[in-house]
Amino acid sequence: MAGIWIIAETREQAFELLGAGRSLAPDMGTALTAIVRKGAGPPEETIARGADEVFLLPELPPDQPFGAHLPVIEQEAKTASPDLILFISSARGKEMAARLAARLGAGLCSGCTALAFDKGSGSIRMERLAYGGAAIQKLTASTKPVIVAVPPRSFEPAQVVDGRQGKTRELPSPPPSAVRIIEKKPKEKVAKDITEARVIVCAGRGFDKKEDLALARELADALGGELGATRPLTEEMHWLSADLCIGLSGVQVKPELYMGLGVSGQIQHMTGVRGAKVVCAVNRDENAPIFALSDFGIVGSLYEVVPKIIEELKK
Ligand SMILES: Cc1cc2nc3c(=O)[nH]c(=O)nc-3n(C[C@H](O)[C@H](O)[C@H](O)COP(=O)(O)OP(=O)(O)OC[C@H]3O[C@@H](n4cnc5c(N)ncnc54)[C@H](O)[C@@H]3O)c2cc1C
Repeated sequence: MAGIWIIAETREQAFELLGAGRSLAPDMGTALTAIVRKGAGPPEETIARGADEVFLLPELPPDQPFGAHLPVIEQEAKTASPDLILFISSARGKEMAARLAARLGAGLCSGCTALAFDKGSGSIRMERLAYGGAAIQKLTASTKPVIVAVPPRSFEPAQVVDGRQGKTRELPSPPPSAVRIIEKKPKEKVAKDITEARVIVCAGRGFDKKEDLALARELADALGGELGATRPLTEEMHWLSADLCIGLSGVQVKPELYMGLGVSGQIQHMTGVRGAKVVCAVNRDENAPIFALSDFGIVGSLYEVVPKIIEELKK
């Protein structure tokens, strides 16, 4: 086996990918190589967190995108022939993974939610959601390398192990990219990051009007949690920021408690709630699909049920 590579733009991405890589490296009997930006933290820490080898990408002029490194990475990959190359499935990570796959003529699995090495057949097995989250697609890599992009927070960041040793090498600067950065604008964040929330109260279309969302906010406050939403509330009614949309086209959440109020439980929404420890639902329709996916359910109008829950919590 010729190695697992991780390619990361930030330290956080590198640590998550090292977590994924370390879970496979012993079974594959191979080394783990981290390809990271030189300015993204000391290589000693990358080694302590699981890399056997660190390739440092030189800092680029401000008008050059991270993807400009691709020709250099391509050459390295052609020489070293790694078995597996891991990216984070962010907008930029997915784009880079696809471009590298095309350059290497390699297979690509993006949005990969599970990754394992099958010792018996010696192949890499992957899973990803298909049909809008209604099914899980299982894939086996038949080409080498296989390029895999994993969604952020799919793997626990690798922890520091004292005394780990590894090598560091600086990669050459790439030729200037035809793509140039003309301007950078920070994304306006109007809502809190709910992917880190311990408790989420999610408002659905069961709310009659925007002002009534105060009820959901009050419950979230009483539970020490954050407010989330289904897509109709963020994309159709524009009652809440798009950052709060949970699901296939929104964010994946992993709270201890998810509470859906007036949420029907369509698969495109519930796929974002898979990581929740406990799912509760309040819905006036006893046949709402969310009840089949809930640990606890209350059949009733949210306008009657939620004030009673808040009252109990305040006692
Ligand atoms: C490609 C694609 C991607 C999508 N991505 C997402 C996504 O990321 N996130 C997402 O959320 N959706 C997504 N959707 C939309 C998704 O399919 C559903 O349409 C959406 O989740 C439904 O939102 P909802 O449950 O709020 O509304 P509805 O389905 O309309 O459900 C409202 C529920 O409220 C209940 N209700 C009504 N009044 C009350 C009351 N007074 N008290 C209690 N209950 C009440 C009703 O019984 C009903 O069950 C996507 C769809 C597609 C096609």
